[in-house]
Amino acid sequence: MAEAFRKKATPGKVPELVSGLAHDRPITDGVKLQVIDELCVGCSYCLMACKDDALIVEGLCEVIDENCTDCLRCLLWCPTGALVYS
Ligand code: SF4
Ligand code: SF4
Repeated sequence: MAEAFRKKATPGKVPELVSGLAHDRPITDGVKLQVIDELCVGCSYCLMACKDDALIVEGLCEVIDENCTDCLRCLLWCPTGALVYS
């Protein structure tokens, strides 16, 4: 479902954070992507940006930790600051 939604709705090229020459995965241990429920408005922009099926948005956004590669594309697109990496 996420893939079909993404193909239909992705707003152009989605930027990525880069934290090294050979990879885009942040290096800091012990931090992960988290959602601040009070700030999430369920817009699904994050879902459109994620290439790894690591998000579910049903009212509020939830992160599927096992799938998340820490690329932080979703974080760049969230318009409310509801996604944090800490
Ligand atoms: S950090 Fe990357 S893999 Fe993880 S949920 Fe966000 S876009 Fe998907
Ligand atoms: S982009 Fe931000 S506000 Fe929108 S659903 Fe995702 S976490 Fe919530």
